[in-house]
Amino acid sequence: MTNSINYISTRGNAPILSFKDVIFEGLASDGGLYIPEHWPLLNNEMINSFSSMSYQEIAYEVISPYIDSSLTKEDLKGIIAKSYSCFDSPEITPLKKLDNNNYLLELYHGPTYAFKDVAMQFIAQLMDFYLKQNKQSINILGATSGDTGAAAIEGFKDIKSAKIFILHPYNKISEVQRKFMTTVKSGNVFNLAIKGSFDDCQNIIKKIFSDDYYKKSNYLTAINSINWSRIMCQMVYYFYTMSRLETNGKKVLFSVPTGNFGDILAGYISTKMGLKIDMFNIATNENDILTRTLMSGKHELRKVKETSSPSIDIQISSNFERLLYDITKNTDYVNNLMAELKETGKYTLEEKELSKMRETFCSYSVSEKEAGEIIKETFRKYGIIVDPHTAVGLVSANKCEKKYDLQVTLSTAHPAKFKDTVFDLIDNEKFITDKVHNIMKLEEDMIILDNDIDIVKNFITENI
Ligand SMILES: *Cc1c(COP(=O)(O)O)cnc(C)c1O
Repeated sequence: MTNSINYISTRGNAPILSFKDVIFEGLASDGGLYIPEHWPLLNNEMINSFSSMSYQEIAYEVISPYIDSSLTKEDLKGIIAKSYSCFDSPEITPLKKLDNNNYLLELYHGPTYAFKDVAMQFIAQLMDFYLKQNKQSINILGATSGDTGAAAIEGFKDIKSAKIFILHPYNKISEVQRKFMTTVKSGNVFNLAIKGSFDDCQNIIKKIFSDDYYKKSNYLTAINSINWSRIMCQMVYYFYTMSRLETNGKKVLFSVPTGNFGDILAGYISTKMGLKIDMFNIATNENDILTRTLMSGKHELRKVKETSSPSIDIQISSNFERLLYDITKNTDYVNNLMAELKETGKYTLEEKELSKMRETFCSYSVSEKEAGEIIKETFRKYGIIVDPHTAVGLVSANKCEKKYDLQVTLSTAHPAKFKDTVFDLIDNEKFITDKVHNIMKLEEDMIILDNDIDIVKNFITENI
C-alpha cells in the first residue's frame, strides 16, 4: 500500500501517528481519540462497482485507503480472508427484507453472535500479523458491556503473541453473553467481573491508559470501540448494504442501536467517503443521553439504568467525541467540552453544532415495554425473531417524524444471546441454536474484583 495517511488526536495534543501505531496505541496520550487527518474519498464509479463484489472485496476497497506501506495488498487481502472465514453466512452481513420499506442488516453471523465480531476478527488477525513480523507480544485490555469482550476473546484466543484481559460489569450482562467469554479455555484469556457498571469498567481502562509509564512498560493495548480499526471495519457493511439495496434515488435511513457511538459513527464516516445515506437514527433505550443531547443540546450524564438491551446501557458514549471533532475540526472546542464533562458531568452544545448534527442524525429513545412489544410484533408479522437491541433500533426508527422510503435497522445481536428475555416474550424456543445450548453446559472461568483501579492494576501486573 502506498498511502501515507496520518492519524491525529481529537484533542490535538498527542503525537501524529501512522496506521500501525494507531492500531496499537488505542487512546491518545492527551485523552483524545485518533482520527485520520482527512477522509479518503471513493469515487462514484468505484462505489457503483460494489454491487458485483463480495463482502471481502468491498472490505478491501473501503479499508485500503486507511492503510500505509506497513501492509502489502496481498497482506491485507489475506487478513480480510482469514477474518471472515469463520462467519456462518457467505454474505457475512446479509440484508433481510421485512417488507417493501424495511430491512434488517444482520450483523450477528460471526462466532460470538454480535456485530463486534466483524471488527474484532480483523483486529486480531491484523495485530498478529504485525507482532509476528517484529517478534513482539502484547497485553490487551478492554471493557465490555457484554459483546465486545466475547468477540475480542474469540479473536485472540489462539494468538500466541497476546494476552487478553476483559473487564465486564459483574451480574449486569446476560448469561449467554457472559458464557461466550468465560467458557473459552485458553491460557491467554482473563475475565475480570467488576462490581460496578459498564461505565465503571470503561473508566478503569481509561485511567490505566492515561498512566503512560504503566501502559508502555506493560505493553498494554486497548481494543474497545475507541480503537480506530474497529470503526474502519464497521464502515464496510454500510457500503455493502447500499450496494445490495435497490435505491433508485430513494431516501434511506439507517437506524442503529447505539451505546458507545462506534457503529453509527462508522456509518457517518462512510458518507464522508462518498456513500449516499440520508439519515442516521441514534436508537437509544432508556439510557437516552444522546437522544436528550440531540433534542436540547444538553449532554448530561445520569445514572445508568439496567435494561434488557445491556450492550447499550451506557451514559458515557466515547466515540461521540470523534463526531464533535469532525463537525468542528476544532481541538480547543473538544478539549473544553471534555474538561467540562469531566468536572461537571455535563456540557451544552451550541446551536451551530447542534443544527449541523441534526442534518445527518436524529434520535429517539425506546422504553422497555416498546422494545418487548416489537419483538412480539415482528415475530407475529414476519416470523422473524429479533434481539432486544435490534428491537430498540426498530421502534426508534418508527418514531422518526420524517419518513424515509427505505429503513435499514442494524440487527446487532443474535436473539439467542438474550434468550431469556426473548423467550419470555414469544414463548418459542426455535431461535436458540445448538451452539448456545452447548455453551450453557460448559464450565466458567472468571475473577470477581471490586470496582477499584489499583486492584485491577495489581491483578494485571501479577498475570502478565
Ligand atoms: C456494542 C453493541 C451495540 C452498540 O454499539 P456502539 O458501537 O457501542 O454504539 C449495540 N448492540 C449490540 C448487540 C452491541 O453489542
